[in-house]
Amino acid sequence: MIKKFSLSTHSRSELIDISSQVEDIVKEARVEEGTCQVFVPHTTAGILINEGADPSVRRDILNQLDKIIPWSGDYQHREGNSPAHIKASLVGSSETIFVEKGQLVLGTWQSIYFCEFDGPRHRQVIVKIE
Ligand code: ZN
Repeated sequence: MIKKFSLSTHSRSELIDISSQVEDIVKEARVEEGTCQVFVPHTTAGILINEGADPSVRRDILNQLDKIIPWSGDYQHREGNSPAHIKASLVGSSETIFVEKGQLVLGTWQSIYFCEFDGPRHRQVIVKIE
């Protein structure tokens, strides 16, 4: 089963917890055991799994990415958003999570994040359960 959902981002860089949306799709799929793939069809956004309990982890990830890949620099891409393309390349555009007993197998502290690197924009997430 493939399902899509959309979301709106509100700042230039942002990590948005989409775990509950993905869990809802897993429940709807009624798959007892399998895999769940989460993919973003964008070149300046990504998918990341990391700590969901302490929001400062999200801020630290974004702040350090900004230090490693600053907005001003010797970039050739004329659209002016090369740092967003580079961050999206590092983070990656998909994650695969196992499904067991009809539920996502995530660690206690893990959440699934949609990563916005060139917002605010209207975005899509594609989820496949099999
Ligand atoms: Zn671009």
